[in-house]
Amino acid sequence: MTTPATVSRGLPLRPELRDEVPYGAPQLDVPVLLNVNENPYAPSPAVVATIADQVAAAASTLNRYPDRDFLTLRAGLADYLAGESGVRVAPEQIWAANGSNEVMLHLMQAFGGPGRTALSFAPTYSMYPEYARDTHTRWVAGRREADFSLDPQRAAQTIATERPSLIILTSPNNPTGTALPPETLEVVLAAADAVDIDGAPAVVVVDEAYGEFRRSGVPSALELLGDHPNLAVSRTMSKAFALAGARVGYLAASRELVDALRIVRLPYHLSAVTQATARAALQHSDELLAQVDTLRQERDATVAWLRTRTLGGEPLQVADSDANFVLFGRFPDRQAVWRGLLDRGVLIRVVGPEGWLRVSIGTSQEMAAFKDALVEVAGL
Ligand SMILES: *Cc1c(COP(=O)(O)O)cnc(C)c1O
Repeated sequence: MTTPATVSRGLPLRPELRDEVPYGAPQLDVPVLLNVNENPYAPSPAVVATIADQVAAAASTLNRYPDRDFLTLRAGLADYLAGESGVRVAPEQIWAANGSNEVMLHLMQAFGGPGRTALSFAPTYSMYPEYARDTHTRWVAGRREADFSLDPQRAAQTIATERPSLIILTSPNNPTGTALPPETLEVVLAAADAVDIDGAPAVVVVDEAYGEFRRSGVPSALELLGDHPNLAVSRTMSKAFALAGARVGYLAASRELVDALRIVRLPYHLSAVTQATARAALQHSDELLAQVDTLRQERDATVAWLRTRTLGGEPLQVADSDANFVLFGRFPDRQAVWRGLLDRGVLIRVVGPEGWLRVSIGTSQEMAAFKDALVEVAGL
């Protein structure tokens, strides 16, 4: 469980942090973990062996600081993106940090700050407002539509009114699974160009943490990078690469944007062990992407199954998903459903608008346990 902070009133904590608690989903020890969108497949023996070899090699140089600019890793990530999306960027257009959460913090540190605004569209990832708070950036949450899509005109209007220096779009969105059509992104980029922040356009970040899980035919925002020096597309090794424990996230953007992030990073922020682990995992990207395909099929099957269920005579509502999770509802008492599943050894997540629940996609055995438990608990 997350331990609440016990901050004494006797410490000069920043006033805006006084009533805050450390963020985090419950970490409970139950058989079926479907709550934080982890990849259910542990690294294979082959992946483990490569990581162990490369970490061993790095261990022999740990008396030295790591490569500050990690160009070898950045080149590996650029190659990977070219293979995955067809979009080729230079190693200098890649940035990485300890999870894409840290990448996002670097973006806030470089482009947000006092007197500036960051904008996103809710319901979305609940960590963004925390980075805004921590960097003294004003936070504004615009609205998504009832089907969780973004209305381009309304988004453009919000951008014109709020004048953010940083716009964060999550695609596929967490917790809804909704992908952003490129036409909508084009409208947002045009609106961002029209915001004058000290003579510059706003920065637009597309958080593609779940990008690899998108359904076929759904494009990546990487395709728009070439025309937009103020666009950044972030990815992570935590989900598709099954490497959440290693903490590696990255983005692709113009060199200019990446160079701005290099100013705010801590010295040697990416350890030699982390760099070695990430490079090793990249050598197995084909194997790891094959597992992503299995998870996409399991996701589509889960959506289809949930759509056959009824709740009090009404069909269950199930959001379209391009991610490795599904948002479904609406339950009059979602907390009770969550609790009932937990009692049966299945941990999912209470998140999103009232009445909805989110389940991460696990192995077929785990999904079978989830379905059995849900039928029992909710009487679907
Ligand atoms: C899981 C997730 C991430 C990944 O965070 P890491 O720090 O890379 O583990 C980023 N953005 C969203 C929206 C996520 O759901």
